[in-house]
Amino acid sequence: MSRTFSAQLAARAANIAPSPTLAVDNLAKEMNRKGIDVIGFGAGEPDFDTPDFIKQAAIEALQRGLTKYTAVGGLPQLKAAIADKLRRENNLVYQPEEIVVTVGAKHALFEIFQVLCEPGDEVILPSPYWVSYLEQIRLAGATPVILPGDPANNLKISAEDLRRALSPRTRAVLLNSPNNPTGAVYSRQELAALANVILESQAWIVSDEIYEAFIYSDEPHVSIASLAPAVKERTLVVNGFSKRYAMTGWRLGYVAGPRSVIEAITNLQSHSTSNPTSFAQAGALAALQGPAEPVRAMVEEFRRRRDFLVEHLRALPHVECALPEGAFYVFPKISGVFGRTVDGIKITSSTTLCQLALEKAQVAMVPGIAFGADEYVRLSYATSFEQIREGVRRLQAFWERLQ
Ligand code: PMP
Ligand code: GLU
Repeated sequence: MSRTFSAQLAARAANIAPSPTLAVDNLAKEMNRKGIDVIGFGAGEPDFDTPDFIKQAAIEALQRGLTKYTAVGGLPQLKAAIADKLRRENNLVYQPEEIVVTVGAKHALFEIFQVLCEPGDEVILPSPYWVSYLEQIRLAGATPVILPGDPANNLKISAEDLRRALSPRTRAVLLNSPNNPTGAVYSRQELAALANVILESQAWIVSDEIYEAFIYSDEPHVSIASLAPAVKERTLVVNGFSKRYAMTGWRLGYVAGPRSVIEAITNLQSHSTSNPTSFAQAGALAALQGPAEPVRAMVEEFRRRRDFLVEHLRALPHVECALPEGAFYVFPKISGVFGRTVDGIKITSSTTLCQLALEKAQVAMVPGIAFGADEYVRLSYATSFEQIREGVRRLQAFWERLQ
């Protein structure tokens, strides 16, 4: 006789919440499949297709037989092309042993926290923060120390705030510029001030630069690692192909940083993914070596959408909306409608607002609480101009129903 099986999971698994950004996106897609016409502002995923020359490179690689395991840390040619990009665009010199190609930037970050953090360590996480950092830090046994950004400075943290949050237990500070979800971009001066404070500590810097191509102001992207050799020596630069080249499904990212960390990540990877997909890496190589025009065209279109969306969100009563300088998100403050009702249902949080907007207006947005900021919602403008125009029209009609 067998005993009743209790199907117990590790506490680690029981405590993981599903990614709210992916959940909103899946819900909107599911509703569309069922014939409900939802405007999806949820997905942080370019609506453009991967440029054709990149697809062709992957197809040719498949036909050539690039179908086997590759080196754990990525194809040597791809690492060389990444090193070249970092030198050309970011003023950063790395050797191949200081770069590892990963299965998306998400997995790069996961691996970084795994190899850097001990249980009991603290990681400073400026808020609003992208959803996965929080869970990944916890999965590594560390404690996220949430540091709220300044609403008067586009929700960015200041050097003084950071100094107060640092402790002898701080293992790392997470920086994400351009930022998801706010779209804020840290200037060179702001990064230098943060770096100076961090240099007084023993903390690593994890710099997620995945939105670097999407900047709409005249100030170019600055990688904090490029500010000084002493900063570079403690920084892990994270980047990827998903956003810049519209390659989300290809699952390719990378980390550049000190040799010891890259070696540890590569060893971890050798027991987890073995290597990023072979022919996808051939596509990434082509992406880095190919024409810049498709990316430029995409950025210009994003700028047009951003301007339109911000203008119309600002026109909604009780809504405040900063002009995001980067990424492809807007993050309006909507707490002005808390306490109001729609069809007798009271809005008490970003979650109730998003639920009502989905149900009553078929508009999908991500509640700010998912990013640690309940007074806000996130709209992604990585969707067509027509969809944005229709979404705005629906939001205007929804706002008119507020009592
Ligand atoms: N960092 C940020 C800030 C993101 O928004 C995303 C979105 N997917 C990632 C990392 C991970 O990207 P990917 O795994 O697709 O490379
Ligand atoms: N990063 C994107 C977002 O924030 C894609 C979804 C995810 O990976 O979280 O929406």
